[in-house]
Amino acid sequence: MFTQTIEAVAVCKTPYQQKFGIPRQPGLVDAQGQIKLTGDYNHPDFVQGIEQYSHLWLLFSFHENLEQGFKAKVRPPRLGGNEKIGVFATRSTFRPNGIGQSVVRLHQVRLEANQVILDISGMDLVNNTPILDIKPYLPFSDSLTNAKAGMAQESPELCSVNFSKECSIAFESMTNGDEFKRLIEQVLSQDPRPAYKKNKHDDKDYFISLYNYNIGWKVVENQILVNSINAD
Ligand code: SAM
Repeated sequence: MFTQTIEAVAVCKTPYQQKFGIPRQPGLVDAQGQIKLTGDYNHPDFVQGIEQYSHLWLLFSFHENLEQGFKAKVRPPRLGGNEKIGVFATRSTFRPNGIGQSVVRLHQVRLEANQVILDISGMDLVNNTPILDIKPYLPFSDSLTNAKAGMAQESPELCSVNFSKECSIAFESMTNGDEFKRLIEQVLSQDPRPAYKKNKHDDKDYFISLYNYNIGWKVVENQILVNSINAD
């Protein structure tokens, strides 16, 4: 049985402090983030010429799930969370080798106090996820617009997001308040709840953590209402 030792080459910095609430695929929320090269890989030579690409593939570890192992069959949200299919027929986060892949937008490459930083947007990764490899996205071979994707042909349906009066006022006193409000709107419009909760009465209070804020919300008549924003 072939085995290979691999090590992280970078780490990602994203607004997402926990898995709950992260979009299910990249590009659904254009949250700004960074990739910081680590260890012996933190050298400009590794990324020389990378700025010629607008998008990159990130291969990364679903490191927060590794200890929970994997099963041959999983219940994808797209099937309502009750039907099972093979893990290789899904983008499940519980998989052999625990490797994820995401195509993301590259904005710029910087060297700051000997730290190589790639400014990236659209990641679907929890903050500090280990990055295992970085590759250019090549439209001529990676963009297959006539590909069939079965149950996952379309991007997920969006949900309307409203803000309580208090929350709307809170953004006015924040630096980049409008940008933060837009990020919250984009994230929650994905309706992060488990599939089996949708289209049913649900009066649970939910919370997501973005940057160092805890954002409270609930579902009111099939729309999401943001009702609290507290700095951690
Ligand atoms: N685009 C990648 C892929 O297809 O392999 C990831 C798709 S996966 C469904 C996206 C989810 O992975 C996010 O919504 C989040 O819940 C989870 N996730 C992100 N970073 C993670 C990490 N470091 N460990 C475990 N789960 C993570």
